[in-house]
Amino acid sequence: MSDHQLPKAYDFKSTEKRIYAAWEAGGFFKPWNDPRKPGFDPSVKPFVISIPPPNVTGELHQGHALTVSVEDLMIRYHRMKGQPTLWVPGSDHAGIATQLQIEKMLAREGTSREALGREEFLRRTWEWKEKYGGIITQQIRRLGASCDWDRERFTLDEGLSKAVREAFVTLFEKGLIYRGPRLVNWSPGLRTAVSDVEVEYSSEEAKLYYFKYMLADQSGDYIPVATIRPETILGDTAVAVHPEDERYKKFVGKKVVVPMLGREIPVIADDYVSREFGTGALKITPGHDPNDYAIAQRHSLPVISILDVAAAVNENGGPYAGMDRYDCRDKLWADMQAAGLVIKTEPYTTTIPRSQRGGEIIEPMISTQWFVNVKPQAEKALAAVKNGDIHIVPEHFEKDYYHWMENIDDWCISRQLWWGHRIPVWYCEDCDKQTCTREDPTHCGHCGSANIEQDQDVLDTWFSSALWPFSTLGWPDKTPDLKYFYPTSIMETGYDILFFWVARMIMAGLEFVEDVPFHTVYLHGMIRDEHGQKMSKMKGNVVNPLELMDEWGTDALRFTLLVGSTPGKDMSFSTKKVEANRNFTNKIWNASRFTLSAIDALSSEENGRKTTDWTLADSWIWARLQNLVRDVERLFQTYQYGQAGQMIYDFFWSDFADWYVETAKQQLSLGGDRAYTTAQTLARVLDISLRLLHPFMPFVTEELWGHLHKALQASPLASVAKDWPVMLIVAPWPEPRDPENWESQAVADFTLVQDIVRSIRNLRAEQDVKPGKKLPVVFAASEKTAMLLGQKSVLASLASLDVEQLEIHASLSAKPENSTALVVGPVEIYLSLAGVVDSAEERVRLEKDLVETESHITRLETLLGSDFANKAPTAVVNKEREKLAAYKETAEKIKAQLG
Ligand SMILES: [Zn+2]
Repeated sequence: MSDHQLPKAYDFKSTEKRIYAAWEAGGFFKPWNDPRKPGFDPSVKPFVISIPPPNVTGELHQGHALTVSVEDLMIRYHRMKGQPTLWVPGSDHAGIATQLQIEKMLAREGTSREALGREEFLRRTWEWKEKYGGIITQQIRRLGASCDWDRERFTLDEGLSKAVREAFVTLFEKGLIYRGPRLVNWSPGLRTAVSDVEVEYSSEEAKLYYFKYMLADQSGDYIPVATIRPETILGDTAVAVHPEDERYKKFVGKKVVVPMLGREIPVIADDYVSREFGTGALKITPGHDPNDYAIAQRHSLPVISILDVAAAVNENGGPYAGMDRYDCRDKLWADMQAAGLVIKTEPYTTTIPRSQRGGEIIEPMISTQWFVNVKPQAEKALAAVKNGDIHIVPEHFEKDYYHWMENIDDWCISRQLWWGHRIPVWYCEDCDKQTCTREDPTHCGHCGSANIEQDQDVLDTWFSSALWPFSTLGWPDKTPDLKYFYPTSIMETGYDILFFWVARMIMAGLEFVEDVPFHTVYLHGMIRDEHGQKMSKMKGNVVNPLELMDEWGTDALRFTLLVGSTPGKDMSFSTKKVEANRNFTNKIWNASRFTLSAIDALSSEENGRKTTDWTLADSWIWARLQNLVRDVERLFQTYQYGQAGQMIYDFFWSDFADWYVETAKQQLSLGGDRAYTTAQTLARVLDISLRLLHPFMPFVTEELWGHLHKALQASPLASVAKDWPVMLIVAPWPEPRDPENWESQAVADFTLVQDIVRSIRNLRAEQDVKPGKKLPVVFAASEKTAMLLGQKSVLASLASLDVEQLEIHASLSAKPENSTALVVGPVEIYLSLAGVVDSAEERVRLEKDLVETESHITRLETLLGSDFANKAPTAVVNKEREKLAAYKETAEKIKAQLG
């Protein structure tokens, strides 16, 4: 009894933890060539990925699981290829998300952010971060992520804060950062500006309000105008019409009166106005609408803001000041009705912007914010992709990138929050000027006054994440890490943040480090449910990766995500697929158990066995494996990981486990040198299969490879494992080699054996032959006679044939009596089913088959005799002709059997 025997079933629960700890303890997550260590060689090219930092408040979702699986696959592949690999982990402070979370916690305690004050609030937030901030990284570890955890970073840590400060001051000194009033997306609930990415648009039922804009000349004439937000009338500064609109031409240049406020505003002409929409006249509210804002810029119109930070009406709203925006809407409309200014209202479906975090309606508002003029950076970033310094996968996203970069707006970087990088600008109360420095100033940089106060706002979280690929490596200091690992190799992330994040990293890298942050951008798709629907909490179709890992194991989840994903394309995810891949894990386990027992069996025999010639099956499995290695390499080079995974799956399940292992059972039963050679082939094929599978399913492969390693070392086959490292994670990747001459013949021959076995198995199933029943058989094998004579025992064991009554001839003078014929390629097979199948029943079955076959023949002959043969495409007609020929052949065979 050997001590290498595996448990019957794979217990992923205990294995995953143990293996992960062993990898970490072995230091395998670190680059083997490390600029921080002695013996470092700067000439060896590293492979580097910076992880897209998850929010520190985050809970692992399927998006993270996909990101981590793909990146870990890339890292493990390059590590096995022998490259020094570095995967930098970390998390994002996530300004709004974290602040909201803490505010909710404070509310439960009966207090609030305002009551605590800024300093205490930040202390409480850090306290929370220290306690719970590690949850998401623990969950990422569960996925098997082989990150260098000693290099873990946080966007608010000391080093990254220094990087943010350096970046801000640099841009400020270049005059590329400025403060000013602008129209921004305002979240009244959060009382802060939010970025475009934090706004969600949905189609909702609303109302379109029609009313009269009275001419100021007392003529009683009016311009009809429609709006979905009547409260914004209070901020109108013009009415615009199309210059060629005959209805309104006469009013252009005149004045109209703002309802209830009595302000006079001009009627202007602008091409932007659509004559067909609404009444064809547009009220212009530059303070609360981005398109109106643009028109106001063109016509030098004043901008009036009518809302305060909570979206209540401010002093510009006259009698409505102090009212909530929606109360104001009702009151104003009622007053206008009383004043005879209302025409009508009608239902209207429109797009409503809502806050991604709070859910309330976002209000476009004028507010004083900090901006970055990104035009100069955008030009460089555009060129970097156009000239091939950065390559986007899949390529069609390059077009979107160009479009966005060519039309980029200044970036609003200030947020009215407390949790984040505070804006490093101080205002002087004496001379009113701004001081922006790398170290906190004590005096005004202009007049020397000590009466200075720091800006209250913090920076958009994306400002710090834009610096991520180099700030994590130590920038602005010229660290050895930065020098060696920058630019990184690949940025892998979802296509949904190409602009918000990827584009900004490219701009920042070129601006601050004067080099691209990565050479390749790999964009994965979104994960949808099994019906192709977007996953959302509202729909209740969200699946939790942690629960999937608990139930089916991490490898099953990873394999499902990796095989299901194609670059840039959304994938449909179903739990059933994870279950199926858990079954694959078991298949790998069982095939490995079989291999280990074959190796162990050698140890109990006397030593001195040696390798003998390969059988056809040995040659075939080895040739198929080499072909797989070539395919996988080719697919990996073009990022087709899903397809590569599917091919490995098919090889392992069908070629190896179903065919080779079955054949090997017969070969092992012969004992001696044959068993020795078979065990050696099993071991070598399993070894390479596990290496190929490792980046997809790291845990089960590591566990099995470890057992294989030990079993080989203790066996007469120790030389197979001679150069193996201690763990699979650092074992060399199987390198493809050119096919050898013998390979294609071996594959063709064994494929014929498989076809013969399959057709005999099908016949046995059709005729209900008992599985154990060994059948007598005669082959007329023509040019395959010699080959099949060599496979006699393989055929007998795989197709349950009676080896004593198995005859293989080149040709036969007469067909054997009472037999059923099968034809496979050039080989005729005559099976004797006498006594096995009731002959009367068999006759009935054959007659029924013949009737059905002849009806197909009649149908196809009619079809091919009709117009169809002339009109349908040749390929389609030929296909029908082939079908007809096949039916005719079958009919002949059945007739021959009926005698
Ligand atoms: Zn001053």
